[in-house]
Amino acid sequence: MQTPWKDYQKQNEQRFLDEMLELLRIPSISAKSEHKEDMRRCAEVVRQRLLDSGCDKAEVMETAGHPAVYGEKLIDASKPTVLVYGHYDVQPTESDASNPWLSDPFEPLIKDGKVYARGSADDKGQFYMHVKALETMVKTASMETNIKFLIEGEEEVGSPNLGKFVAEHKDLLKADVILISDSSMLSMENPSLDVGVRGLSYIEVEVTGANRDLHSGTYGGAVANPITILCKMIASLHDENNHVTIPGFYNDVVEATREERELMAKAPYNEGEYKDELGVKELWGEGGYTTNERTGIRPTIEVNGIWGGYTGEGAKTVLPSKATAKISARLVPNQNSGKMTDMLLEHFKKIAPANVTVHAFEHHGGEPYMTPIDSKGYQAAAKAVQTTFGKIPIPVRGGGSIPICSILEKELGIKIVFMGFGLDSDNLHSPNEKYNLENYYKGIETIPYFHKFFAQG
Ligand SMILES: [Zn+2]
Repeated sequence: MQTPWKDYQKQNEQRFLDEMLELLRIPSISAKSEHKEDMRRCAEVVRQRLLDSGCDKAEVMETAGHPAVYGEKLIDASKPTVLVYGHYDVQPTESDASNPWLSDPFEPLIKDGKVYARGSADDKGQFYMHVKALETMVKTASMETNIKFLIEGEEEVGSPNLGKFVAEHKDLLKADVILISDSSMLSMENPSLDVGVRGLSYIEVEVTGANRDLHSGTYGGAVANPITILCKMIASLHDENNHVTIPGFYNDVVEATREERELMAKAPYNEGEYKDELGVKELWGEGGYTTNERTGIRPTIEVNGIWGGYTGEGAKTVLPSKATAKISARLVPNQNSGKMTDMLLEHFKKIAPANVTVHAFEHHGGEPYMTPIDSKGYQAAAKAVQTTFGKIPIPVRGGGSIPICSILEKELGIKIVFMGFGLDSDNLHSPNEKYNLENYYKGIETIPYFHKFFAQG
């Protein structure tokens, strides 16, 4: 169908793209202190873009860490207010030699209808759809809600300062619903909406053996090797059914109902294609659950990094003093991040043999989050997607985590609606992150409908 704003968007297509590319050129890596100035520069650009796109007010606001950007376009106090949340920070770009970036992560490459760059899908390309949707609504006189923007700069490092920021600015951020585009849909042919995200507990475990690196010939065989010990501890985390073995790990999980599992099973899924796309011969996962369930309704543990000893060129016969691993658990509704983190830390201390010492500490965490599909916000999003995609979206549980969700709901007392336009194949957090131009434009076309239906709802 011809949307009322389609012509305006078509005429401005190239500029909408150019503006997104300009944002992608700024290396706003929140994890690295050397990019502190890039972070601020990016926040300033976002502020200016909000103003240029129709906001009456936009500010770069300080937090204890990287700044957040706030903007607003308020049209009528009697109309509902939508708070758009997104993040302008991106993940680091380090990659393994076997899977390198094929182009500069901060010089966007357009190939086959896709933009390759760090942050293209997560989340610059996605939050910017809302900025261009705002411009569209302002320019085509189709605004039916008040719109506020909160674009933060610390999502990729766990939003450590945003909870306090939100608590201190409750009035400023007051709204009727929170709208987030920072997730994926199943495919363009099978649009879906996330109804929840998993929580996270992230820890680091350092195992120390001898008080210094040793000669592996002189001491090997007599002194415990911390790499071997750490590997054994990690290997013991799953049993033969790939069930997590930590006592109490599943205690608080609310099992999904048979009805929900049946609904999930309706989502199109082709195991052969899934494996081919990943280049694996066999999948792996907890017995008794489908792939979709393993990444949605079940908690998991993954090792995110492991190092120790000599990893340089050639050989060096060393029996290292230390080995370290970064380990994270994804959590599902009713599990508590603080409690689970304590459980993980305790477990590693408990299973450590006496021949090493273990130092384990927390990195960050986040609570799981669920949004009800009968809410006004979800219904408006579903109707918007149905209008532009021609299909009712399938509700799915997202596997990732957005730690700020539970905090936003707690502090502001309103529900979150996830309207992600990315694809799982967008290589989020990996080399060659990309965002399809079709998805970008489709998002900009769909978002105004959300506002329209939410105002009507
Ligand atoms: Zn993100």
